[in-house]
Amino acid sequence: MFSKILIANRGEIAIRIMRACKELGIKTVAVYSDADKNSLHVEHADEAIHIGPASPKESYLNMDKIIEAAKQSQADAIHPGYGFLSENASFAGMVASAKLTFIGPSADSIRAMGDKAESKIAMKKAGVPTVPGAEGLESFSDFEQAAQAIGYPVLVKASAGGGGKGMRIVWEADDLPEEIESARREAIHAFGDDRLLVEKYIPNAHHIEFQVFGDQHGHLVHLFERECSVQRRHQKIIEETPSPLLTRQLRNEMGEAAVRAAKAVHYTNAGTVEFIFDPTLSTYYFLEMNTRLQVEHPVTELTTGLDLVQWQIRVAAGEHFPYQQEQLTQRGHAIECRVYAEDPANGFLPSTGVLLQFIEPRGPGIRVDSGFTAGSEVTHFYDPLLAKLIVHAENREAAIQKMQAALKDFIVHGVVSNIDFMQAVLAHTDFADGKVTTRWVEQNLESRSLLLENRQQAVGLQNLIAAALADLTIVNHKSEIVNRNDPDPYSPWKNPGGFRMGNS
Ligand code: ADP
Repeated sequence: MFSKILIANRGEIAIRIMRACKELGIKTVAVYSDADKNSLHVEHADEAIHIGPASPKESYLNMDKIIEAAKQSQADAIHPGYGFLSENASFAGMVASAKLTFIGPSADSIRAMGDKAESKIAMKKAGVPTVPGAEGLESFSDFEQAAQAIGYPVLVKASAGGGGKGMRIVWEADDLPEEIESARREAIHAFGDDRLLVEKYIPNAHHIEFQVFGDQHGHLVHLFERECSVQRRHQKIIEETPSPLLTRQLRNEMGEAAVRAAKAVHYTNAGTVEFIFDPTLSTYYFLEMNTRLQVEHPVTELTTGLDLVQWQIRVAAGEHFPYQQEQLTQRGHAIECRVYAEDPANGFLPSTGVLLQFIEPRGPGIRVDSGFTAGSEVTHFYDPLLAKLIVHAENREAAIQKMQAALKDFIVHGVVSNIDFMQAVLAHTDFADGKVTTRWVEQNLESRSLLLENRQQAVGLQNLIAAALADLTIVNHKSEIVNRNDPDPYSPWKNPGGFRMGNS
C-alpha cells in the first residue's frame, strides 16, 4: 500500500480523496495555486505545496510542477480527481515514467476512449450499440450523403470534443453547411482539431451511465447506473440511482454492454460508460467513456455501500477487487444535487464573491461533499461548484422528499446559488414521473415557467435577507452608540448580541 498520495486537484474532490486516504492510513499532499492558499483542501492535507498562479494553466494543469511536487514530498502516487489532468493520457504516462503510480486507468485506455470517432469504432467492434452515424468524413458531399442516409435531425460532433463544445443539432438539410462550418470553427479553437462526425439526433433522450470498476488482474464489474438527465448547457445538475426508467432486464443488458466497452480497452480502476437512452423505443447507445472518477460517484457509493475512492487506491496498489457481479446489489435510492454559485435567471452564469453564510444541512441519510465554508471566496478561476448534496432513502419518493427538506436547510449567502432552481425542478411533476430529458431544463426555461417559480422564491428570499441585514446594521449601530456613552461596564447595553427579554 502507498504511504503518501499527492492529490492533483482542489475543492470538494480533493477533500473527498483525502478522507479516503486518512481512512486507509495514508498521508496526503495538497497542491494549491495563489488563489487557493487559504482554501479548505489545503487545511485538510498533511502537507501542502504551492504550484503557481491562480490560472489553471499555470498551476493545476501544469504537469511538470505537479510531478515535481510529488517528488519533493516523496509521495508514491498521484490521484488526479476529476477535471484538470484526470483524462490526460500524456500526464498518466509522465506519472508512470517518474516511477509514481497514477491512480486511474493506463495511458493507453485513456487515449483509446479520448476520441469520439475512434472510441465509437472500437465500441462497434466490441458489440456495444452506438448511435447510427458516420465517422471519418472529409468532403461536404460526404457529410451531406451521410446525413441524408441517417435522416434528419442529425447531430454534428467534434471528434476531439468535450463539454458540449463543437456540437450542433441540424434540423434540416439546408442548415447543414452553416452548422458544419461553425462546429469546425469551434472545434479547432477549443481542441486544435477540426475532425467532425455526424450521427442521428435522438430527441427526448435520457442520459444514463454505468459505473464500471476493474482491478489489475483482469476482473471487471459494473456498479449499476446513474440517471443524469437533468442538465443545463450539456452539464449535469441532478443525478440519481436507480434510474426510474430501467427495468431489471434493461439494467442487466446495459450493465453487460458497459462491461464489454471497458474490457475492449483493457480498463482498470473506476470509469463510467455513458449511454444515451431513447425512452420511446427503450433503446440505448454508447455515448462516451469517462476514464476517471465522476462528480456524481457518491450516489453509487450510498446505494452499493462501496467506497469508490478507497477502492481506486487499493486496486492501484495492486489489490484484487473482491466482489463478483452477482454479489453486488443496490439498496434504496440516492439523489445528488450540485450546489453551484451561479444564477439560473441569468443564463446560469457563475456568481463570484465571499460566502457570508454557508450552512450545510445535516441529518440521517444526508451527505455533503463540499470544499467551502463561511468566509471562503468563490473566484472566477475555477468551476463554481460549492458542494454536492447527496441523500439516501428507502425509495425514490422518500429520497425526493429528503432532498427537498435538505435543500431548504442549505443556507448560502454572499453569492447567488442554484438551490431554489433545483427545488423547482424537484417539485415538478415531470421529475416525479421520470420524464426529464436532457433538453428539459432548456425547454422549460424557454417557456419561462421554471425561471418564474425560481425568481419568485429568490426575490422573496432576497427581500428577507436584505431586511434581516438592515435590522442587524441598525442593532449594531445602536449598541455601538449606547456602548460608547454608557459608563457602566456591566450594562446590558454592552452586549451587542440579539438578547431579548422573555426569549427563552
Ligand atoms: P461531450 O463530451 O461534449 O460532453 P457527449 O457526446 O458526451 O459530449 O454529449 C453530451 C450531451 O449531449 C449528452 O449528455 C446528451 O445530452 C447530448 N447528446 C449527445 N449525443 C446525442 C445524440 N445523438 N442525440 C441526442 N442528444 C445527444
